[in-house]
Amino acid sequence: MFMTSVIGHFIHGEHVSRGERTAAVFNPATGLAEKKVRLADKATVEEAIASAEKAYPAWRNTPPLKRARVMSRLKQLLEENADTICAMITAEHGKVLNDALGELQRGIENVEYASYAPELLKGEHSKNVGPAIDSWSEFQPLGVTAGITPFNFPAMVPLWMWPMAVACGNTFVLKPSERDPSASIFIAELALQAGLPPGVLNVVNGDKESVDTLLADPRVQAVSFVGSTPIAQYVYATGTAHGKRVQALGGAKNHAVVMPDADINNAVNALMGAAYGSCGERCMAVPLVVAIGDATAEAVIAGLKAEIAKMKVGPGTDTGNDMGPLVTREHFEKVKGYVDIGVAEGATLLVDGRTLDVRDANGERSNGYFLGPCLFDNVKPGMRIYQEEIFGPVLGVVRVASLEEAMNLINAHEYGNGTCIFTRDGEAARHFCDNILVGMVGVNVPLPVPVAYHSFGGWKRSLFGDLHAYGPDAVRFYTRRKTITQRWPASNDPGRAMFSFPSSR
Ligand code: NAD
Repeated sequence: MFMTSVIGHFIHGEHVSRGERTAAVFNPATGLAEKKVRLADKATVEEAIASAEKAYPAWRNTPPLKRARVMSRLKQLLEENADTICAMITAEHGKVLNDALGELQRGIENVEYASYAPELLKGEHSKNVGPAIDSWSEFQPLGVTAGITPFNFPAMVPLWMWPMAVACGNTFVLKPSERDPSASIFIAELALQAGLPPGVLNVVNGDKESVDTLLADPRVQAVSFVGSTPIAQYVYATGTAHGKRVQALGGAKNHAVVMPDADINNAVNALMGAAYGSCGERCMAVPLVVAIGDATAEAVIAGLKAEIAKMKVGPGTDTGNDMGPLVTREHFEKVKGYVDIGVAEGATLLVDGRTLDVRDANGERSNGYFLGPCLFDNVKPGMRIYQEEIFGPVLGVVRVASLEEAMNLINAHEYGNGTCIFTRDGEAARHFCDNILVGMVGVNVPLPVPVAYHSFGGWKRSLFGDLHAYGPDAVRFYTRRKTITQRWPASNDPGRAMFSFPSSR
């Protein structure tokens, strides 16, 4: 074990290294604790909130066009520093560099969208709603807002939140995942360089103590959360009990339906990336294939087995690899445990990734958290490997007889984040899109992650709250509507008292 650096916080435009408690940050490809992260205590989080509160009045009154220009400059800086950011992501999360670049690019698109703020913040105006009376709605910022993010997209998910929040005139306190904290601190430095005034964005690293402080502090007006469902539900319940606006995005168990008429090659290629990309550690990953009919199941399985045999698993820094390690030793054990559970539950394990042998540069067995791709057949709805989010490279095939049966399964599942259907039948696809109880749906698209100018969110226990993340919903989430009705009576208007409710009768 060796540690080279300690990651602190970024408060009021400065690095702050405070807090007694620390956590190790591991490189998942080596199993070495290469860094430490400070876990903020209540006082440190309160300092960040105070900084955001202090920066708010001037930032709120900064013209939206000037706020937007900061976003444009940040977009450029993110592009120029992409290699550095991706290296940080891969060193702490484990995903392959190309995949890190993909998430960063999706994050940058949110910064780009935030640079349209002046257009997005335009209000609504009605002239002559009554005699010489005009009325308009405007969208005012909330004040200090906060975001709490998961480990699996250390650059993208924070960029779903704070660029839109600050472009709308708010200030922000970000609490990233303590497992891969470096990218957030580095990006906050870039934002400062892009012209974001100190205090408009603060980053505190930490755990439950930081989150609870943000949820209870009366100065924080709104909280965006992305993470697992139990914590999302806790954050929603606690934040709203403290009078805050909360959006809390949770876990997932996404189903891909393959119809008998589907282009099987296309479906198999799509499923490979969706199931095993980023080691299955994506909330939009596809861990379940629902095959309509045994012939479809056999064809899909044959294709998947052939493609799995070609997969390369190893350190994310090696550009030849398709899949890196899982994020931590604990998560590796959990995912491996689910494979054991699936076998015990009676599902058929067709490809066993538990036997994977990855070697390090010296030819020794790697201490990284590598698990090979796993494939189950005959997964049944009553099984834990069907019901629960595994968040690893484990794909299960469920065999059903009809599209209706597949849709009933999906609609009965507790999660409703994403789903997709592979078919050439437009009528079936339309019926699926119209009636499936899931927030994001793909037709021959395995990862229907909305682009930055749409909004992202699931249904059922995949999202607590009303508004989805980023895109147009973010403008509504990070602002509140004010409607002004205005009359300037003519100087010669004698006026008279009116006791009936004003209307345009
Ligand atoms: P997590 O819920 O463990 O952690 C998320 C955040 O909550 C972290 O910042 C963490 O420090 C904090 N946290 C953890 N335990 C807490 C507690 N007891 N009290 C208060 N705060 C706490 O999630 P994770 O393991 O980092 O991320 C993976 C999960 O996130 C998966 O379930 C995945 O599906 C989900 N996710 C969902 C989406 C989505 O858009 N719906 C996107 C990405 C990830």
